[in-house]
Parts: sequence; C-alpha cells; structure tokens
Amino acid sequence: MTTWFNETLYKGFRQSHEVRKVLFEGRSKYQTVGVFESGRFGRILALDGVVQCTEGDEFVYHEMLTHLPILAHGKVESVLIIGGGDGGILEEVLKHKSVKRATMVEIDGEVIEVAKKYLPKICGKAFSDKRTNLIVGDGAAYVAETKNRYDLVIVDRPDPVGPATVLFSEGFYRNCRRVMKPGAILVAQNGVPHMQGPELTEAIRLFQKIWAESGSYLAVVPTYVCGFMSMTWASDRDITDVDPRQVFARFDRAKLPALRYYNPEIHFAAFALPNFVASLIPAPKETAKKTVAKKSPAKKKVANAPAKLKKKAAPKRKAAKKR
Ligand code: SAM
Repeated sequence: MTTWFNETLYKGFRQSHEVRKVLFEGRSKYQTVGVFESGRFGRILALDGVVQCTEGDEFVYHEMLTHLPILAHGKVESVLIIGGGDGGILEEVLKHKSVKRATMVEIDGEVIEVAKKYLPKICGKAFSDKRTNLIVGDGAAYVAETKNRYDLVIVDRPDPVGPATVLFSEGFYRNCRRVMKPGAILVAQNGVPHMQGPELTEAIRLFQKIWAESGSYLAVVPTYVCGFMSMTWASDRDITDVDPRQVFARFDRAKLPALRYYNPEIHFAAFALPNFVASLIPAPKETAKKTVAKKSPAKKKVANAPAKLKKKAAPKRKAAKKR
C-alpha cells in the first residue's frame, strides 16, 4: 500500500508525495522535523508538515537567493544567513571564493543535525567549512544585538508561522538594515504570489519604509507549488540597475562550479514580473520616498529593461552564445 505525505498549506488545495522511506521523524523545541525518501523529488525535508526543500529542486531556490544578489553586488565578502537550517543556502554562498565569512543563525539545532546526517546532497560540506560561523539562535535577536556588519543578508525563512513570524516584522527588517554595510543587499524568501500575494505586498510595503530601493524577482520551484516563488530584495541602491556586461564579467571571474539554474541571462529575466505579480507591489508612498534616501531615477528604467538589456548586451551576447 503506497503511503502519501500530504502538505495542506493552502485551503482547498494540497500537494502529495509518495513516501518511499521515512528517514527521520521527530519533534524539536520548535516544530516537527521530518525527512523522507519520496517518489519523485529524492529526499524531502518537511517542518510542521510543510515542504522546506527537496533534493529534486532545491537548486532553483538556493541558487537564485545567493548568486543573483552576490553578482549584483560585485564585492560580497561577509554574508549573514537567517534560518536556512538545511544548509543549502550556505553551500551556494561558499561556492564564491570572494566570500570570507558566512554567518548562519538558525533557531533549531535539530534541523541542522538532521540536514548534516540525511541531506548531504543539499548541504555538502558547508557546515564544516572554515569560513562558516554557525549560531543556533533566534535570527531576530541576533540582528538586534550583533556588532558585526554584512555585505549581504539572506533571509531563508519558512512561512510566517511559529518562531518565524518575527522574521516578517518591521522591527526585524529595521535591525537587518542596522547590520548592513553601505551598498549591502537583503534578500528574502517571500512565498508564492498566486497563493500568498498579501505576504509579498506587506514585505515590500515595509521595505519601502526602511530602504531607498526594493522589489521582487521570481523563479519557479516545483515543490513550492502554485507557480512562481517570489524573492524580495532591499538595498540603498537599485540592484536591477547593474550593467549586464558587469554581471557577465563577474560570473566569468567567479568560476563557479556548474550551476543548474542560475546564469546571467536568467539573472535579468527574473526581474520581469507578470502583471498579477507587479500589481502586488505597492507604489512607494511620497512620504516613504522622502524619509528614506532619495530614490534613484534608475527605478523607472526597470520597465523597459529587457529592450535595454538586448541593446546593451548585444555585443556580449554573441560571445555568450558561442560559449
Ligand atoms: N526554503 C524554505 C522555505 O522556503 O520554506 C525554508 C528553509 S529553512 C529550513 C527555514 C529555517 O528557518 C528552519 O530551519 C527554521 O527552523 C528556521 N527559523 C524559523 N524561525 C527562525 C528564527 N526566528 N530565527 C532563525 N531561524 C528560524
């Protein structure tokens, strides 16, 4: 008899995975933690019955939440990861030789131990890398207290439930800004717009009160069901306004091991939002504009970025194609 794992995150809708073998099942101080061998996506980590990552499609989410901001920034040396207990984000970050220090603050030590034991295809050797600074603790408390400053903050949070609720709060974002160096970037997991639209709207509304520039980019992660996954970003500069030739050059210089999703073309394409997602992004209020640094006119350029990209990237493109 086939056993099924049923995720019922959304009312009236569920996703089911065949359970080939249960590898771990337990309850930590914060949540239920489960790892099972599935019928189609390899090993799956579920917390409180919700899919967090799978061997089958983790590369999409982990590559887009790391390589895009790192190559948009250009000089990332210190990275702060909030959450991310499966180690997938940490592993991608450490692929960049320019990264000197990666601090990860995960509230549930059990998730880390389970990932080390059952998810080596996702975390690799990231937890034992000498650049890794692993802290088991509340990410919100960490950004409120630390004296360290970072070039990149990656918020690899689950949905806004339980201990993660605070990771969607204005106070947390303000403290994230506190630990960001000038020109630093924050990126965050922000749900599936088709099912979790208000989460995206609320995050951007709060970002606009705190940072000069913010927005969203997209990728499709099959087991984050119902279409696009939105990743939000915030910074005191417009990360969409980077010359494509620079991103191509940085990508070449980084000499990253073969990636399965990210490339410089998808980097820019990811910012092109379909209308139903664009309509979820609130127009920045005049007040917010005044309070946070004057918004660069560059923003307007986003609208016709593809055309611009084509024109700017044309000479390079030919080269890329040959590659
Ligand atoms: N990519 C997944 C997603 O999109 O749902 C999230 C992956 S990761 C496993 C999420 C991690 O955030 C979990 O391990 C959870 O324990 C951790 N977490 C939740 N609340 C936290 C907090 N306040 N501080 C630090 N980590 C937290």
